[in-house]
Amino acid sequence: MKSLIKDLVESYGPTGFESEVTDKIRSYITDYVDECYVDPLGNLIARKKGSGKKVMFSAHADEIGVIVTYIDDDGFLRFSNVGGLNLLTLLGNRVRFANGVIGVIGREKGELKDLTLDKLFIDIGADSKKEARKKVAIGDFAIFHREFCDLGQRLVAKSMDDRIGCAVLVEAIRRLDQSNHDLYFVFSAQEEVGLRGARTAAYGIDPDLGIAIDVTRTGDTPEAPRMDVSLGKGAAIKVKDSSVIAHPKVKNLMVRLAESSHIKYQLEVLEAGGTDAGAIHLTKSGVPSGTISIPCRYVHSPSEMIDLDDVQNCVDLVLAICRDPLEEF
Ligand SMILES: [Zn+2]
Repeated sequence: MKSLIKDLVESYGPTGFESEVTDKIRSYITDYVDECYVDPLGNLIARKKGSGKKVMFSAHADEIGVIVTYIDDDGFLRFSNVGGLNLLTLLGNRVRFANGVIGVIGREKGELKDLTLDKLFIDIGADSKKEARKKVAIGDFAIFHREFCDLGQRLVAKSMDDRIGCAVLVEAIRRLDQSNHDLYFVFSAQEEVGLRGARTAAYGIDPDLGIAIDVTRTGDTPEAPRMDVSLGKGAAIKVKDSSVIAHPKVKNLMVRLAESSHIKYQLEVLEAGGTDAGAIHLTKSGVPSGTISIPCRYVHSPSEMIDLDDVQNCVDLVLAICRDPLEEF
């Protein structure tokens, strides 16, 4: 499991450019599913055929990043965000472009409290616009440049959001035994800019039930915002975030399965943020949807931390859903 996670989090996959990630995922699961294809927007969709309910699971393959908007005469790059970035976590950090070019994020003088994105720049070591243009073009995307770090029970990396969700689905697919449902596992594109891939995937699949697998914030660090989710306390079953109110049937199903299968869980209310379930539940005439969240500290920073126990509980919950008759749907 650790090597799978390391492989996925160290991949290059900014929003809109998920193919390196989905190619790797495909190689892990292709022997375990009946169909595996990439759709026009870049979603990887794996299907395990069955005659029961049509269930769509979705974990997003993309990660937050930056896009080059301007190159100045001295070779410094100006950039915009792709997905939500915390400006303070950018300072001193490094980014990596698709071609391997590395840059350091610096800032103009001024008070930290007045920091805005347009006061930041990327230094790729070029000393002129001409030199910079040999390495990078306007519109190029970069991701955080950070290696996977094994702390034992806890793991730290960039893009745990949401490669850890992808890893949960990969592991569930590989361990899947009996299920008579028609199961779709979507590794979605472009979640970070507004759940775009999940929207078209759900339209095509038209599921009876939708489940997103994504990270959520925690309230367990010093002076953290008040939130009743902690690392290591189990799979978080979402009740609400700003994209969806979990359908009571879906939430109750997950709670029932967690209790009957002795899966450690916690209930989650995320006050700001959303997941693919936000798009899935609004598909066609509506799809009962919910989310299994992996608790994660420092979300949207280059050092997102998760607990392996929680990951295992999330895998178990996905498998419990696959095995259940799902009579209420
Ligand atoms: Zn996410």
